[in-house]
Amino acid sequence: MNSPVLVINCGSSSIKYALIDSDPEAPRLAGLAERLGSSEARLKGKNSAGESFTQALPNADHAEALNSILKRLEGRVPGAVGHRIVHGGEHFTRAALIDENVIAAIESTATLAPLHNPANLAGVAATQKVFPDLPQVAVFDTAFHQTLPPRAYRYALPDALYTKHGIRRYGFHGTSHAYVSQRAGELSHRGAGGWLTAHLGNGCSTSAVWNNQSQDTSMGLTPLEGLVMGTRSGDVDPGLHAHLHRQLGWSVDEIDSVLNQQSGLLGLSGLTNDMREVEDQALNGHPGAKLALEVFCYRIAKSLAALSCALPKLDGVVFTGGIGENSPIVRREVIALLPHFGFSLDKAANEGTTRGKEGRLNSTDHNGPEVWVIPTDEEGRIAMETRHCVESPE
Ligand code: AMP
Repeated sequence: MNSPVLVINCGSSSIKYALIDSDPEAPRLAGLAERLGSSEARLKGKNSAGESFTQALPNADHAEALNSILKRLEGRVPGAVGHRIVHGGEHFTRAALIDENVIAAIESTATLAPLHNPANLAGVAATQKVFPDLPQVAVFDTAFHQTLPPRAYRYALPDALYTKHGIRRYGFHGTSHAYVSQRAGELSHRGAGGWLTAHLGNGCSTSAVWNNQSQDTSMGLTPLEGLVMGTRSGDVDPGLHAHLHRQLGWSVDEIDSVLNQQSGLLGLSGLTNDMREVEDQALNGHPGAKLALEVFCYRIAKSLAALSCALPKLDGVVFTGGIGENSPIVRREVIALLPHFGFSLDKAANEGTTRGKEGRLNSTDHNGPEVWVIPTDEEGRIAMETRHCVESPE
């Protein structure tokens, strides 16, 4: 398929889009429709000349926003649409051409991702209206982690909770971990061996990848498990929920909201969920910001060390995501906490990384595991999987 792929990431009030050519060097048309359903709804993006635009779309719904996006594609006609779908449960181990059965299977996992999957499906429905003749493909955040062995995906809970209710670890950010681990194998002379990947953005997760297959990951049944994130707590004692309920009288919804929206960097610093500000305030000596940075980095290192157990050998670690790509401080602190792994971070390379550029951060004569920064490209990966799926559906 030579035509471009339109990648759609649909939230409850937003649509992120990118039109991606089969030639990876070709410029992308990309943008974001946001605040849909409100009087402030608008479409922001860039045209092929790289110029930014903002268009007011008062009270537009998803279908209206998609019609406006269509007009911004500068006459280029997509050959397929690739949808980011957050949760594919155990049904989907790879991307799937969307039909009634696939939609029903995605709906059946809605209880596992109540905030995301219904919004993703609303995006599919709206896109089908606007592009009735185009093949539509679902690309799942969870699919890459379907290679996890039972020892990594099972919780030590009664068997029926897994067999009857699907309670297990699924993992997320799959397209990002898949992309950067594959890219590390291409860029490094070590090839596709054992890579630890750290996707550090507003959401954060780590993964252990062996020969391009995910072996373990830090997120679990939901994207709340694992690392400290912008506003998410990551791992806490499972006994905390009962404790907060019994001692403070908090409802399930209150507990859920505190752990998802008021914790993480925001909760620890008392200031912000934005790592740039946390770093600035930590350098100014703010105790909450210093603690937030310290806990954040320690938990990443601890997670990487734990995930190394999933790999027969360790070829390197890859940092990606807004923080992983742009914060020399976080990379330095994390690597400093793993001295027994034999990493050696080149100070100048770590501090001299250029935004958006791939690079190895250890000296070339170093024999230990490598350290890489690789900007993630979830949209490019979704386009690639969409192409494969259209060309060779199962
Ligand atoms: P993402 O969700 O991947 O867009 O990442 C968002 C996170 O990246 C936010 O916490 C930002 O503060 C953080 N970030 C972006 N640029 C930088 C930077 N130069 N230094 C530290 N953190 C950054």
